[in-house]
Amino acid sequence: MNINQLIDVDHKHVWHPYTSMVNPLPVYPVDRAEACTIYLKDGRELTDGMSSWWAAVHGYNHPVLNAAVQKQMKSMSHIMFGGLTHEPAVELASRLIELTPSSLQKVFFCDSGSVAVEVAMKMALQYWIAQGKSEKSKFATIRSGYHGDTWNAMSVCDPETGMHHIFSKALPVHFFADQPRCRFGESDIQTGIDAIHAILKKHQSEIAAVILEPIVQGAGGMWFYSADYLRELRTLCTRYNVLLIADEIATGFGRTGKLFACEHAGIEPDIMCLGKAITGGYMSFAATLATSQLAETISNGQPGVFMHGPTFMGNPLACAVANASIDLLLKSGWQEQVQHIEAELLKGLSVCKQLSNVKDVRCLGAIGVVELEQPVDMAIVQKRFVELGVWVRPFGRNVYLMPPFIIRDDELNKLCAAVYQVIKEEGVK
Ligand SMILES: *Cc1c(COP(=O)(O)O)cnc(C)c1O
Repeated sequence: MNINQLIDVDHKHVWHPYTSMVNPLPVYPVDRAEACTIYLKDGRELTDGMSSWWAAVHGYNHPVLNAAVQKQMKSMSHIMFGGLTHEPAVELASRLIELTPSSLQKVFFCDSGSVAVEVAMKMALQYWIAQGKSEKSKFATIRSGYHGDTWNAMSVCDPETGMHHIFSKALPVHFFADQPRCRFGESDIQTGIDAIHAILKKHQSEIAAVILEPIVQGAGGMWFYSADYLRELRTLCTRYNVLLIADEIATGFGRTGKLFACEHAGIEPDIMCLGKAITGGYMSFAATLATSQLAETISNGQPGVFMHGPTFMGNPLACAVANASIDLLLKSGWQEQVQHIEAELLKGLSVCKQLSNVKDVRCLGAIGVVELEQPVDMAIVQKRFVELGVWVRPFGRNVYLMPPFIIRDDELNKLCAAVYQVIKEEGVK
């Protein structure tokens, strides 16, 4: 298929994320990707600032990860997980248990982040049902969160960006506290904590769990909030007998400067969701981890089992590449890499503060965000980034970078310079 045919058939028949089927913005056909470069079919080369949505922490086409997939393929690509088990899955579970907070001891493998969130929410419900408390059937969360696009995951996304108004007749209604406005590194958390405290105090008998993204709210707002808030919230959840679900799907595996963002606050959640970077960006895979106490309570209640089991649960190819990706990460000196990226992003993006259309610039770990006063015009901005040789995909008012950890300084500089240039042009248009 030549480029024009490809674009034509794509345009006619293929949905893209959050994209119109009648009047879509252009998509760019990719030929291949290697390290931090995306090679377009038209011959252009783009420096990657997105890690394919937090996932490709080691860059693309990594020889070690390729080898892990190839080796596993020779024994089996997939085998059902009902009644069978295998080394890649057991080894991955052991690694996850060792790396995550010590109270998390039970691993449920899922096929995507959204499913990991569904599983976490279902676990929380079944935990209370097993104790005869089925009235604890609601969830509390904070505004500007993002937890995925499936039904229950969507019900705890920010009501505006999650578009609850469109689906309001069909979505379960949960409790939303105001977003904690206290920044990461600061400690004036009282207003934020009062909001969620009031909800927990009043509705503790109806709430199964609080679900939130620890420290970094991703797709819902690219906001970094105080570790003190998370620590205090953990205390409140325990006090009001409500479970705490940490959605680490975006933050997990080093992105925020800690292996898991919960470590910034030194807290242990009752349930943790992992995804995205778990396979180094090779394939869709996720895991939901729970405490022994939670797993035992569910298993000792009726019907004695946890009611979930996806077809591709524990997929051996995904487990094998996840094992290789985690080993690679731990050997890579990721802490220095991420710290260095944070310093470079801060240096490279701070100049944007001078621009009149910029509201805020913030960096944490390998995440750099420039928040604008107004949403960007995607039709113009996306094209300009490609012309400047970078792959950056803004969302709403946020233009952000979350590059692979292996990115070089010259590539980072190119990304930051392009962000400055495009925002500057947006401001004068
Ligand atoms: C991406 C994301 C999800 C959903 O994961 P999918 O693999 O897209 O289903 C859930 N929670 C958070 C925090 C995410 O960033």
